[in-house]
Amino acid sequence: RADKKLGQNFLIDENIVRRIVEAAELSPADKVLEVGPGIGTLTQGLAESGADVVAVELDKRLLPVLDVTLEGYDNVRIVNGDILQVNIMETVAAPEFKVCANLPYYITTPIIFALLEKRLPMERLVAMVQKEVAERMAAKPGSRDYGALSVAIQYYTEPEIAFIVPPTSFIPAPAVDSAVIVCKRRSEPPVKVCDEALFFRIVKAAFSLRRKMLSNSLKNMGINSEQCSQWLQRAGVDGKRRAETLSLEDFAALTNTFSVEK
Ligand code: SAM
Repeated sequence: RADKKLGQNFLIDENIVRRIVEAAELSPADKVLEVGPGIGTLTQGLAESGADVVAVELDKRLLPVLDVTLEGYDNVRIVNGDILQVNIMETVAAPEFKVCANLPYYITTPIIFALLEKRLPMERLVAMVQKEVAERMAAKPGSRDYGALSVAIQYYTEPEIAFIVPPTSFIPAPAVDSAVIVCKRRSEPPVKVCDEALFFRIVKAAFSLRRKMLSNSLKNMGINSEQCSQWLQRAGVDGKRRAETLSLEDFAALTNTFSVEK
């Protein structure tokens, strides 16, 4: 029985499995991390590519099923654990890797942030997510879907929605449409910032009050109105704008001009 709390919607469409594996562009020289192999449908497709697969599954009940599905493959290792708790570098045991997964939807964003913010050597992320989340990841400034997740993904990678997947491709069928998103690692960030942690603090502060003008939301950075307006002026960003209109360049300008006088 699928456990709803664990986001268990198992893929049953072979064609979709094939397209996800193709999007990962795997070769036998690759190491690929799968999050939540479930009953092993995608895992099998990944193994067929010849790449070395390591799959982290939280639900112990699925381990005997995975043993059966993956019998005969000597390039797959299953690890029982929580992807948000395991040491990913130790688990993967390779200098670089790709991630390919049909993610559990209840923790999509934490998983993605964990992979990005730890700055892991992840060459490519191919993920099945809710369609709405894929749209947020790929959203451009000025669109309603644009937020902290868009900025984080686009700072580290180039995301592109590959295709949409209907609920009928899963058992049980989820309530929402899904999409496969392909995020290619950037060789360099698209903007230069003096301090990455500060960049993300500013992004989060700006979007924490996304309907408010920046001159209000940025006071969350522990500064008063006067300091805030001087800062916005140094950065060349109009304080009447709202976070959802700011490009990565604007956030970089804010980062590189931030200073609090003691
Ligand atoms: N890959 C399979 C497929 O495509 O059919 C299953 C995908 S299902 C959407 C998500 C899987 O992630 C489930 O097998 C679930 O048990 C597992 N899972 C949920 N939370 C997890 C966690 N914190 N760490 C690792 N796996 C988790």
